[in-house]
Amino acid sequence: MELKNKSLFKQECFIGGKWVKSLNNDTIQVDNPATLKSIGNVPKCGKAETKNAIEAANDAFLNWKNKTAKERSIILKQWQDLIIKNVDDLAHIMTVEQGKPLAESKGEILMGASYIEFYAEEVKRVYGDIIPDPLPDRRIVVIKQPVGVVGAITPWNFPSTMITRKCAPALGVGCPVVIKPASQTPFSALALAVLAEEAGFPPGVFNVLTGSASEIGKELTENPIVKKISFTGSTEVGKILLKQSASTVKKVSMELGGHAPFIVFEDADIDEAVSGAIMSKFRNSGQTCICANRLFVHEKVYEEFLEKFVKKVAEIKVGNGLEESTNSGPLIDQYSLEKVKDHVQDAVKTGAKIAIGGDIHKLGGNFYQPTVLSNVTNKAKITYEETFGPVAPIYKFSSDTEVINLANDTPYGLASYFYARDIGKIWKVAEALEYGIVSVNTGLPTKAEIPFGGVKESGLGREGSRYGLDDYLEIKYISMAGI
Ligand code: NAP
Repeated sequence: MELKNKSLFKQECFIGGKWVKSLNNDTIQVDNPATLKSIGNVPKCGKAETKNAIEAANDAFLNWKNKTAKERSIILKQWQDLIIKNVDDLAHIMTVEQGKPLAESKGEILMGASYIEFYAEEVKRVYGDIIPDPLPDRRIVVIKQPVGVVGAITPWNFPSTMITRKCAPALGVGCPVVIKPASQTPFSALALAVLAEEAGFPPGVFNVLTGSASEIGKELTENPIVKKISFTGSTEVGKILLKQSASTVKKVSMELGGHAPFIVFEDADIDEAVSGAIMSKFRNSGQTCICANRLFVHEKVYEEFLEKFVKKVAEIKVGNGLEESTNSGPLIDQYSLEKVKDHVQDAVKTGAKIAIGGDIHKLGGNFYQPTVLSNVTNKAKITYEETFGPVAPIYKFSSDTEVINLANDTPYGLASYFYARDIGKIWKVAEALEYGIVSVNTGLPTKAEIPFGGVKESGLGREGSRYGLDDYLEIKYISMAGI
């Protein structure tokens, strides 16, 4: 790693304010998805280390929750400042372990820091209520308090933002956190811990442990000390964690998979729709939970959209994210590459045509060509499953009702997109789409100020915005009598 601040590259876990190895010294090797070469090793922790981290967090809870919101806010701000100061190194670490182009990594680090900034301000506004009581000598008082120790499990596709989006509100309201990052991208999480320590979080308030997902996940969900699980990842793993969390009736937030429709109506600005589709589909090589996964284009503008879209896709430069000219990196691993290959081959078998791409990239390894499929049918797997790769399947539609039904025909409900100009249609379609996020005339709806989250099997709860605080707070009603 070529870093200015070499202390950011840590191969140990951060538990109770100390940098530690796993108890039996086992490690996990982490590889660069662009070169397939090893970057380093992190501890392979299990149940015992997780228990230690939970206990350290619990020991820190009372002192942390009793600080004022302003005191916690100052430490959060210091953490944000340090992240911004180290943005180049943090972006470098991310690109090396995750593969995304440096510019995207830098964008993610700054986006992650913006969650900390937002919550450093917002936690000062955790208000309660005084509700008029029907009896004259009584008052109804409502206060909000931190839930307690939070277990956070995060994915590899956004190794930094998925941590700050959970931890900033949790830490801000007074909850200590125990974070388990994805095994493919642990170094970004450990670098955040280095800066959290420097920012001044007391020992035990911020813990990161790497290792066996199933062992750490089981302990986090079943240990009664943990009061809340916040998970971002696949719907499949989310369901396991929900079941496990039932044993101790924990609060849960689940940010799960998506299968976003992207609709281009006949009155859309086609050039804008093309740019939005490129952004939504090919950012992070198609490995985002809010990626457009089904592009529905009205029959009257289908040919125009397809031609312009393919032209733009042809300009995407695939390569190692560390090279400046690259704007699309590798997939995370061979398993993901195989899934993309399978989705494309299956779509072609069931009637789709390859408009561009459609094969492994000449760079080999984990690289796949940015691909557009036209005339995709509803028999193709890609119509129903999240692809998580740089493949854009295009479908033709002729009426509003038809496309709304097609868009909603999925168990997922995270993000949806559409392009139109008619204000009546915009309202009607926005209300009819069964999604937590409806993005109108833009391909990138995320920012700290919005309530991010899905409906149906895409999840529970919201992250970002003032709503993102609720998931880390308990409501307490105090009945005041004898007044
Ligand atoms: P994943 O396989 O579900 O893994 C996510 C995290 O869960 C990783 O830290 C993983 O650890 C851990 N994990 C795996 N099995 C576990 C178990 N049995 N118990 C506890 N933890 C376990 O998902 P992914 O492949 O990393 O990420 C891609 C998925 O995340 C996609 O479906 C995407 O749509 C979704 N996602 C959703 C959002 C959102 O906000 N809704 C955002 C980003 C991504 P290991 O790495 O050690 O296996």
